Amino acid sequence: MVQARQFEKLRIAVIGAGIVGVSTALWLQRDGHDVVLIDREGPAAGTSYGNGGVLAACGIIPVNAPGLLTNAPGMLLRADSPLFLRWSYLPKLLPWLTRYLARANDHDTRHVAKALQALLYDSYEQHLALARGTGAARWLKPSDYLYVYKDRHAFQKEAYGWAVRRDMGVAWQELEGAALQDYDPIFSGTRNFAVRMAGHGTITDPGKYVEALCAHFCREGGELLIANVQDFERSEGSVSGVTTEAGRIDCDAMVLAGGVWSKPLAQKLGLSVPMESERGYHIDLINPSVMPRAPMMLASGKFVVTPMEGRIRCAGIVEFGGLNARASRGPIALLQRQIHEAIPGLHYERFEQWMGHRPAPCDSIPFIGPIAKAPNCYCAFGHHHIGLTGGPKTGRLIADMIARRVNNIDLAPFDVSRFTRQSLTQSRSG
Ligand SMILES: Cc1cc2nc3c(=O)[nH]c(=O)nc-3n(C[C@H](O)[C@H](O)[C@H](O)COP(=O)(O)OP(=O)(O)OC[C@H]3O[C@@H](n4cnc5c(N)ncnc54)[C@H](O)[C@@H]3O)c2cc1C
Repeated sequence: MVQARQFEKLRIAVIGAGIVGVSTALWLQRDGHDVVLIDREGPAAGTSYGNGGVLAACGIIPVNAPGLLTNAPGMLLRADSPLFLRWSYLPKLLPWLTRYLARANDHDTRHVAKALQALLYDSYEQHLALARGTGAARWLKPSDYLYVYKDRHAFQKEAYGWAVRRDMGVAWQELEGAALQDYDPIFSGTRNFAVRMAGHGTITDPGKYVEALCAHFCREGGELLIANVQDFERSEGSVSGVTTEAGRIDCDAMVLAGGVWSKPLAQKLGLSVPMESERGYHIDLINPSVMPRAPMMLASGKFVVTPMEGRIRCAGIVEFGGLNARASRGPIALLQRQIHEAIPGLHYERFEQWMGHRPAPCDSIPFIGPIAKAPNCYCAFGHHHIGLTGGPKTGRLIADMIARRVNNIDLAPFDVSRFTRQSLTQSRSG
């Protein structure tokens, strides 16, 4: 007779109350655990506040795809390009950048696309399962997602990415000329071609969504602690407590979901991860005169334009400049120029601006899973451009791992020790 595994109720500390940490805390709570969620500022204080709000199931192509090496130098010099670098940061960036650029090839891009496809393909349903019965559900909407180009020729320049998407099963409809105008007249002829993908979704206020999920977690008996995690207490390798300036929190297991700030904490547990901040920006156009019908990627500026409650959010830009430098003016000016060029006659009451840090592993794949040197600790960070999309499923995967439930996803690409293993293999063969 097969005996059911006995449920073991654990006290679990989750560090970071962004979309990934809050999702993880909720799924662990639903499994019956006693969960304490720790954030130094509160829910959605980091990158999860200001993202583009797109549940981008099709977001499987990394920025470091083939062609980046040839295009990047020119892009850095062009005023209208969405790639920025603070040159003083280059020496610090170089070790990561070298590994990042080395992956701008077909083999690695397809590896990333396959891994992300498994994480993202059902993202709307994953959000539905997470948010159902919580106050957060009101911010979740099903939608199309469009990539909008000046013309077919501009679309064809990105043929590689679309071919990989097609190979991974992503389907779309092409809208050209009058068909695009009929779908959404907002462009008044400035854009002539779009790829329309059904089955996507949008969060109409990402910050409030995460806050509402967190409020639900607290109502259901979860504990939210505002404290800065500084270190860990260990017992035979495992973490027995999390130390903050406010004191020590006992735990039987720990999940590190601190976004880009996870790196130094992981290091304390013997895990070194090649992860950088990829800075991004948004402008919110408050009470705009027109609203797009669906969220879209404006391909010329590589930023998303998302209809949100009472505003349009334009969010994107890739800037390398580290965690400490202040926001730059160039990216904001670029977003403003491009949105006015694409939607002539658009006006709004005022605009708000924001800069945030995407947690960017050099291989563009999140770290999801246990830490070898601290067996009761799990990583859930490094979600780069797709953290809002993939956060809920990541939380579910971590809950499955802690419950030792089997799921049908190939988790090998997300293995948190993949870089440690690589360097070991290289040094043994070298
Ligand atoms: C401009 C822009 C647009 C984007 N658009 C999209 C999009 O449309 N769709 C999409 O899917 N993704 C998008 N992203 C990416 C997405 O926002 C991120 O991948 C995601 O928010 C990462 O979530 P997280 O929970 O891992 O990290 P975060 O949201 O950054 O949360 C980490 C939390 O950890 C806390 N923390 C850190 N260190 C400590 C510590 N020592 N002690 C206690 N607490 C700590 C922080 O306060 C923070 O609240 C975008 C990103 C940017 C910048």
